[in-house]
Amino acid sequence: MQAELIFTGTELLLGEVLNTHAQYLGQRLSALGIEVARHTTIGDQWDRLAGILRRALDRSALVITTGGLGPTTDDLTKETAAGVLGLGMVLDQPSLEQIKEFMARRGMVMPESMARQACFPAGAKILPNPRGTAPGALLEHNGKILALLPGPPGELRAMFEQFLEPYLAGLSDRGIVARSRLLKVTGISESVVQQRIGDLGGQTNPGIAYLAKPGEVHVRISARHADPAQADRMVAGLLEKVRHRLSGFIFGMDDEVLEEVVGRLLTESGLTLALAESCTGGLIAARLTAVAGSSEYFLGGVVAYHNRIKEQVLGVPAEVLAAYGAVSRETAVAMSEGVRRLSGADFGLGVTGIAGPGGGSTGKPVGLVYIALAAADGTCCREFHFPGRRQAIRQGAANTGLNMIRL
Ligand code: ATP
Ligand code: MG
Repeated sequence: MQAELIFTGTELLLGEVLNTHAQYLGQRLSALGIEVARHTTIGDQWDRLAGILRRALDRSALVITTGGLGPTTDDLTKETAAGVLGLGMVLDQPSLEQIKEFMARRGMVMPESMARQACFPAGAKILPNPRGTAPGALLEHNGKILALLPGPPGELRAMFEQFLEPYLAGLSDRGIVARSRLLKVTGISESVVQQRIGDLGGQTNPGIAYLAKPGEVHVRISARHADPAQADRMVAGLLEKVRHRLSGFIFGMDDEVLEEVVGRLLTESGLTLALAESCTGGLIAARLTAVAGSSEYFLGGVVAYHNRIKEQVLGVPAEVLAAYGAVSRETAVAMSEGVRRLSGADFGLGVTGIAGPGGGSTGKPVGLVYIALAAADGTCCREFHFPGRRQAIRQGAANTGLNMIRL
């Protein structure tokens, strides 16, 4: 089955908002075996929407629009679709009640203009909006399917996953199904990953694709087959081989992120952690605390950017700073041991480096980072040279620091 997507919103054309619906719907639809054949993005201009809707319904079995379901006068997707299909607009009483209730729960009275959100093209199946007031609509017309979804990303995703996806999954003639798993690797470069597993597949079926991130490599293993169970088996078979070849470097699968893995390991072992961050400026702390329940194992951190804080708060000796500089093995070690002492944590992690573009007056290269991990049985410190610009270096250092805790 071929699908065509129409995104509405002048802000998308102006580049003010990134069209994340394209990525999201593209992934979800192809996982269902539906081929996305075309995208069109238009502004909030309804004559243009009418034109593109007519053509899309002529050539594609499934057409999905996003945006323009709201209460304002520039939100006209449903009216335009009704016009194109030659249908009238009908008020749906239950939807009207739901909108009133939604507003009442937030202590507001529904403004008259919002009643438009409860009007739908005649014969439409109404898609409830779990996250907002504007419901979507699903129309089956002359053998074609037209779905009208809301613009706000949270609303679009909730409506798609709860209502449209199950409906589409139930259609019999979807065709080839694509399945995939993501394997996340760290501590090894993209080219070495490819050397190790490249012979197992590429743009084949099942196949392997690579995506390099700062400090991580993602390996996607995918397969296509008319029978979803067979596609799953093909993915699982290849995954097993890849896992074997990359063992020791894999830290997670699919949506799992490094900070969750670190959190799980610390929780399981009952150990705690504190941070002394210089060039990462709190990045590692932000990532650790983004995980719910992190107060179990993360005690806190010091952003020791200036030497005075390294010295006065973390207790890095002035002689060490003078002799070796702020970006040195000796300073990283003293930072990690200082924060461990200060906090009483089992582990202290210290990070100091040159994120660039300038390196101060040190004469040391941009990208040079020292990361030290202090524990009861001693402190280890490693030197890294991260490529790229400031943000990539900071992210690479944060990832590598998290990974050192994992190991
Ligand atoms: P509302 O009830 O909020 O008016 P709507 O269904 O009318 O919803 P829009 O007004 O088109 O939708 O968009 C609402 C919000 O969703 C805007 O902030 C917009 O930037 C965002 N949005 C719309 N389309 C996309 C998209 N393709 N990708 C990412 N964000 C989007
Ligand atoms: Mg709107």
